[in-house]
Amino acid sequence: MRIKPKKSLGQNFLSDRNILGKIVDSCNFTAADTVFEIGAGRGELTRLIAPKVKKLYAFEIDSSLIPLLNESLRDAGNTQIIHQDILKARLLRYIKVRDGKVIVVGNIPYYISTPILEKLFEAGKHIKRIYLTVQKEFAQRVVAAPGSKTYGSLSCFVQYHGRAKIKFIIRKGSFFPAPKVDSAFLEIELRSKPLLKKADEERFFTVVRAAFNQRRKTLRNSLFRVTFPDKLHECLARQNISPDIRPEQLSLDSFLGLAKSAKSAKFAK
Ligand code: SAM
Repeated sequence: MRIKPKKSLGQNFLSDRNILGKIVDSCNFTAADTVFEIGAGRGELTRLIAPKVKKLYAFEIDSSLIPLLNESLRDAGNTQIIHQDILKARLLRYIKVRDGKVIVVGNIPYYISTPILEKLFEAGKHIKRIYLTVQKEFAQRVVAAPGSKTYGSLSCFVQYHGRAKIKFIIRKGSFFPAPKVDSAFLEIELRSKPLLKKADEERFFTVVRAAFNQRRKTLRNSLFRVTFPDKLHECLARQNISPDIRPEQLSLDSFLGLAKSAKSAKFAK
């Protein structure tokens, strides 16, 4: 059956057999794994993952692809095709604590990369690794280190939740239809425990957002004006952070320290 790709759903299907194989090999699946696939599409990845794992839940939003997926995976008894928007799905319904943490994999539509990460991190304590094919520039922002131009709130957001690395680059010609830019295959290994308590976590994200909102300004200006009405200099001094540096020079650890110290100094949000 010929499928006309829908641009509105980000349907750039992976057509390169070598890359499909490389993706599945990189995920290091075992026969004990439960896997969520996001955006099963025509099932190319789904069919390669199914024989390697214990249970596979493949989410796909496009109703016109569901009959094809069901038909081509009819013999894969461990695979369930779920016709649902991943952003609305109740993921916990499919997670059985006795089966351990799940692995998530997906060649996802670019325009929902961040909402998908937010959704997955919400269920983070049930997930061990996430593998996503995303725009190369997005992946570079995710893995960026302090001091680099691409380091920003996305880097801090993802690196707070896990260790991220780019496994390999996928050229645009590997997709049908070819997108405008190259992609990267990203691995995020989730932390086994959150780095901060819930209250500190909210403060951490407030500080990070405020700092990078005013990227070209020094911390003295961005944090003083936006986040903290007073005592910012004391808080920075306790962390040995100069108020005259710019946010991209601040490591994740320094942001974490700042969030904790802001609490003890009773700064307003
Ligand atoms: N996995 C296939 C492949 O690699 O060829 C398809 C990848 S294609 C880039 C993205 C797929 O995600 C499409 O099949 C699209 O219909 C589906 N999709 C888009 N938005 C979605 C959503 N919110 N929830 C679930 N699937 C979605």
